[in-house]
Amino acid sequence: MAKSVAVSVGGRYFRRKGLKTLSEPAYVKDILQPLERYAEKNNPLSRGYVPPGGWDESLLKTLVPVIGAQGPLPRNEPGYGPIELAQRIAGFHGAMATNCHTGNWTRPPLSEDLGNFYDWEGRWGPGCAGLPWQPEKMPVDDPAALTEIVQDTALFLGASLVGITKINPQWIFKPGWDRYGHHEIDLDAKLPAGIQYAVVMAIETNYHFVRHAPTAKASAAAGLGYSKMALLSSSMAKFIAMLGYQAIACGNDTTLSIPLAVDAGLGQLGRQGVLITPEFGPRVRLCKVLTDLPLAPTGPIDFGVTEFCDACAKCADYCPAQAIQYGRRTAKARTFSTSPGLLKWPLHGELCLQYWYRNGAKTSKGMFHVDCYQCINVCPFNKKAGIGHNLVRWTIRRLSFLNRLLKYGDDLFYKPMYPTGRMKKKAARRANGSA
Ligand code: SF4
Ligand code: SF4
Repeated sequence: MAKSVAVSVGGRYFRRKGLKTLSEPAYVKDILQPLERYAEKNNPLSRGYVPPGGWDESLLKTLVPVIGAQGPLPRNEPGYGPIELAQRIAGFHGAMATNCHTGNWTRPPLSEDLGNFYDWEGRWGPGCAGLPWQPEKMPVDDPAALTEIVQDTALFLGASLVGITKINPQWIFKPGWDRYGHHEIDLDAKLPAGIQYAVVMAIETNYHFVRHAPTAKASAAAGLGYSKMALLSSSMAKFIAMLGYQAIACGNDTTLSIPLAVDAGLGQLGRQGVLITPEFGPRVRLCKVLTDLPLAPTGPIDFGVTEFCDACAKCADYCPAQAIQYGRRTAKARTFSTSPGLLKWPLHGELCLQYWYRNGAKTSKGMFHVDCYQCINVCPFNKKAGIGHNLVRWTIRRLSFLNRLLKYGDDLFYKPMYPTGRMKKKAARRANGSA
């Protein structure tokens, strides 16, 4: 019997109940041809992210991105003013000040000794506790009991959801990509021997800030998620290293995060291309620790996401970049950055990222991007826990023929603050009396 995912909601810690775990992930039946391992540099963020004005050697000394003498200029629109831009910078501060950004190899090292919180070398490396001694391996007689302790520790350190999976090598990047140094990384050669489990953790992002999507205020919530990822996964890695085992702290780097999270039972893949969880919907950020510590996996789940997404497409309607696919799932690649073989709704990541820059703030050196988050915000699964919403979630799991009705109800009661995408055009037509 697989163990349950550990959950933290509103300061209350518990193990998820009432969801049957599966013997294998539901997506296995959707693999229509052998999958190739993903080359990390194909990710639009890997290809496209360079600070406005390019990297500058002075960054090593100042740690301040090159955004020009004035910095990002506030726009005279709600959600993009000086307060919201300051909130966005504040949210990302932890990730940027520790030179982590979205994961390892995305920023220059802090110093020769200290790379960043995700570092594989030196005192933050996989086998090092960060202290001047090397702990003995703690004997593990009962991996299931130890898993409980690891989960409790993860919740204590700031995780909202924690699951364990045996690492499917399919999800390890081949090759990895040093986004700062612009070179490939042979992760198969680099990964220490014996690493076989992933502690997969989700961090809830702030509901009230996310409601302001696609503005800089919602971007602040995403940024704080990145800052917490760096702290959470590196702290969890140090906890495991202190037990004498190897532990690699990862953000978005080293493996695809979503399939690992699906394998660990945190949630399922949604139409908008992110993980949807039963407790927080898609409003989470993911990080993981790869380790040789013997642990007991938590099982994958199916709580009706694919069937609901089939009936919904609200994210596609509101996507300002029209990057989310309508219609049924496909196993074909959509752009250079998506892989063929698995039935899903492939995202047009390039359109999405281009929108983030259009959605940003001008600097004297180019655009300062603002993440959008609208597809997370409008998703009907993005609701706070409560009797009514829990009943809806139960209905989605058991009575999928009611999905369209539930979607209709969501449209009626949950309109986003800022209409975007097709819905913005519809609203404009209505305002002009032509709809
Ligand atoms: S908005 Fe609807 S279609 Fe999009 S991910 Fe959420 S449930 Fe699925
Ligand atoms: S983040 Fe915004 S632009 Fe990107 S897919 Fe989601 S809604 Fe579309």
